[in-house]
Amino acid sequence: EEAKEPPRIQRLSESVVNRIAAGEVIQRPVSAVKELVENSLDANSTSINLLVKDGGLKLIQVSDDGHGIRLEDLPILCERHTTSKLSAFEDLHSIKSMGFRGEALASMTYVAHVTVTTITKGQLHGYRVSYRDGLMENEPRPCAAVKGTHIMVENLFYNMAARRKTLQNSSDDYSKIVDLISRFAIHHINVSFSCRKHGATRADVHTVATSSRLDAIRSVYGISVARNLIKIEASDNNPSTSIFEMQGYMSNANYAAKKITMVLFINDRLVECSALKRAIEIVSLLNQEVIIEKIQSVIESRLRSSNETRTYQEQT
Ligand code: ADP
Ligand code: MG
Repeated sequence: EEAKEPPRIQRLSESVVNRIAAGEVIQRPVSAVKELVENSLDANSTSINLLVKDGGLKLIQVSDDGHGIRLEDLPILCERHTTSKLSAFEDLHSIKSMGFRGEALASMTYVAHVTVTTITKGQLHGYRVSYRDGLMENEPRPCAAVKGTHIMVENLFYNMAARRKTLQNSSDDYSKIVDLISRFAIHHINVSFSCRKHGATRADVHTVATSSRLDAIRSVYGISVARNLIKIEASDNNPSTSIFEMQGYMSNANYAAKKITMVLFINDRLVECSALKRAIEIVSLLNQEVIIEKIQSVIESRLRSSNETRTYQEQT
């Protein structure tokens, strides 16, 4: 076969590079929500409120009462790799915040229209500014504001037609967002959360700051979940392995669910751990086998005794 000429290698334009990178950081509306809520938590907010329109494609709005953003930082707020959480590489050892890469807001401005309203302590008014492709679209304008930061992400993936179309056909993004906020709300119990769909009068998640984890679980997952929980604790301070401490709740046998839901935070980060989930599922499956065996033997003996009666009846 005749060898083909190799294709030419070209340098991608910066805007293509940025949009591709942004699309990886922000895969779907729920990823934008996660980044925004983590920023609000990092800003020491005690109240975080979300409004979502059209599964997050039309609008994601997050309002918090955190420390706000300084006027002089607004010009670089949405540039890539700008952050208040990390300065030296070594800081990574001791980092307590969720964010540190300075990529989330920047990414959002490459795939959506972002508007920030913020006020810092002691100021008489706040500032509002919109961003596109990492940069301010206008000078920050003074405006009325309450404590904290209010971020609007509009028309997500307006410039990624294929992604927008796939997401438009799937209606489950709002439920993914509700699920995410529910999880945050039962972990960060000292913060009040709300999440509402645009046009709805009732919020789908609504919690008030509390000191009781069970109260938080009750207001998110309902009375019957909260009523049937067993507390579990485990720790290991063998210094030769890693030191860990865990606290949690699990449903007891009175609570029947179609599938296992596991909410796991490691060092305050929401994580998926399929290995742990599988291990837990095996435990419940073992129970299931015992139960199935029991039912099976009951049915078997009932059948046997009914056969005996039948035989007896046929004989008479
Ligand atoms: P990172 O969280 O990794 O620092 P982001 O792009 O998410 O990067 O945010 C950039 C910076 O913007 C943050 O470091 C923080 O200083 C500021 N910021 C973002 N959201 C908020 C908020 N809700 N309140 C206060 N500051 C914020
Ligand atoms: Mg962040």
